[in-house]
Amino acid sequence: MALLSTSLSGWGRYPVQSCELERPERFALLHPNAEHLIARGQGRSYGDASLNENGRVLLTERVNRLLEFDLEHGVLRAEAGVTLAEILEVIVPKGWFLPVTPGTKFVSLGGCVAADVHGKNHHHEGSFGDHVQSIELILANGKLLHCTPTENQQLFWATVGGMGLTGIIGEVTVKLIPIPSAYMMVKNHSADNLEGLFTLLQSPASDDRYTVAWIDSMASGEHLGRGVAMGGHHVEVEELPGNFYRSIKPERRHSIPFNFPALILNSKSISVFNSRYFKREGGRRHPFLSGYDSYFYPLDRIAHWNRLYGKRGFVQYQCVIPDATAFEGVKHLLEALSSSRRPSFLAVLKRLGPQGRGLLSFPMAGYTLALDLPIRDSGLFVLLNKLDEIVLQHGGRVYLAKDARLSSQKFREMYPLYAEWLKIKHEFDPQNRFSSSLSRRLKIGESA
Ligand SMILES: Cc1cc2nc3c(=O)[nH]c(=O)nc-3n(C[C@H](O)[C@H](O)[C@H](O)COP(=O)(O)OP(=O)(O)OC[C@H]3O[C@@H](n4cnc5c(N)ncnc54)[C@H](O)[C@@H]3O)c2cc1C
Repeated sequence: MALLSTSLSGWGRYPVQSCELERPERFALLHPNAEHLIARGQGRSYGDASLNENGRVLLTERVNRLLEFDLEHGVLRAEAGVTLAEILEVIVPKGWFLPVTPGTKFVSLGGCVAADVHGKNHHHEGSFGDHVQSIELILANGKLLHCTPTENQQLFWATVGGMGLTGIIGEVTVKLIPIPSAYMMVKNHSADNLEGLFTLLQSPASDDRYTVAWIDSMASGEHLGRGVAMGGHHVEVEELPGNFYRSIKPERRHSIPFNFPALILNSKSISVFNSRYFKREGGRRHPFLSGYDSYFYPLDRIAHWNRLYGKRGFVQYQCVIPDATAFEGVKHLLEALSSSRRPSFLAVLKRLGPQGRGLLSFPMAGYTLALDLPIRDSGLFVLLNKLDEIVLQHGGRVYLAKDARLSSQKFREMYPLYAEWLKIKHEFDPQNRFSSSLSRRLKIGESA
C-alpha cells in the first residue's frame, strides 16, 4: 500500500505534524505485524487525536457506503467513513434523524463513536454511543469482531469514547429517531449574568429537547456570564405554515479563502460582535422556525472557518464540571479568562445528562463550557494549565476530542475509569498498535 507523507493537523490547526497517510477503498483486515497506526475520519477533532507523528494514519473517507436502512424501524448500518452530512441527505426526506449530532455534520460515523460525541440533547438522550446497536471492529491481531452493548460488551464500551485506540471501527449500526418535519421550532431566552443563565438551563420553562447557551465571553463584573439559552425541537407538521415542506434545500456555503491575520479577532472586535449578537438573539421574544441545518450546523455554512484564527491556529478548550460544583467552577473559569484578557470568539455552555457507559467518554452530569482561543503566544498555554487546575478542583474533566495540550498526569486524574479501560486495551492490543499523537502525549496505553 502506497503511503503519502504529509503535514497534517486537526480542526484547530495546532499541532501540525508529519504523518504517513493511507487511503484505502475498503478496510483490509490488518496484517498482524504491521506498524502502529491510527484511524482518521474527517479530521474534525481539534487537536492531535487523529494525528500520528512520523507514523501511519488510516483515512476512512473512501470507506463510506450506506449498507442497510430499515425504513420502518429507523435502523441504519453503514461503513464508518460515511459522514453525517451524507447520512442526513438520505434519512431526513424519509422522516428520520440522527439520535445525537455534534455541531458539525462534516464528521464521520466512526469519529462519532470513537469520541462518543454529545449534542444539544445530551441532558435528555445521552451521547452517540447510547444509540449504537453494534460495531464491527478490526482488532490489533488482524481479526474482525462484532461488538454490541451486550456481546463483547467490555470492548464495545472501551471503543465508544476510546479515541480509536482499541481498533478500527469498520461498520456501525445506529438507531435513528423519527422526525415529523425537517424544521425546528426555536425559542431564545436571555440572561444578564451567569446565575440567570444557569437558571434558564435548569428550568423546564426554557429547556427543550435540544438546548444550548451562547455566552458573551467578553462580559465581566455584574454581567459576567451573560448569554442566550436557545432551545429547540423538531416541528410537528401541524405547526408548519402551509408553504413549508417536509424537506429543505441545502443552504449556500461561503468560504474563508485564506488565513486571516490573527489580530482581526481581537478583544475590541469580539466585544462589538458579542454585544450585537446578545442584543439580536436575546431580543427575539417569539419562537421562530429554522431549517435543521441552520439550527444544528450554523458554522458549516462557512467552509474553512478555522482559518479565521490565523496561521498559528487555535485551541478549543472544552471541559465539563459536575452539577454540584458547576456554577462555581464555570464562574472561576470565566473570571480567569476575563482577567487573562485573551478573547474567546466562541463560548458555549450546555447542560449534560448522566455519565454514559463509555469508559473514556467525556460527558458527566453537569455543565460543559467550550471556548475557542487563538494561539498568539505561549502565554495561552499557561492560561490553559490554570483552567485545568480549576476544572480538577471542581471535579471535572477536559474533552479529549478537542484537546491538544493536556498533561498525562491530569488526564489520569480526570478520567478515573482509565485503569479499567487499560485492562481491555492490554487484552486486545498488547503491543499498543493503535496509538496516536494524543495517546503518546497523554501516555494512554501505558500503566500509571
Ligand atoms: C465545528 C465543530 C463542532 C463540533 N461540535 C461538537 C459537539 O457538539 N459535540 C461533540 O461531542 N463534538 C463536537 N465536535 C468534535 C467532533 O464531533 C469529534 O471530534 C468527532 O470525533 C470528529 O469526527 P471525525 O470523523 O472528524 O474524526 P477525526 O477527527 O478524524 O478523529 C477523531 C477520533 O476518532 C477516531 N476515529 C475516527 N474514525 C475512526 C474509525 N473508523 N475507527 C476508529 N477510530 C476512529 C480517531 O482515531 C480520533 O481519535 C465538533 C467539531 C467541530 C469542528
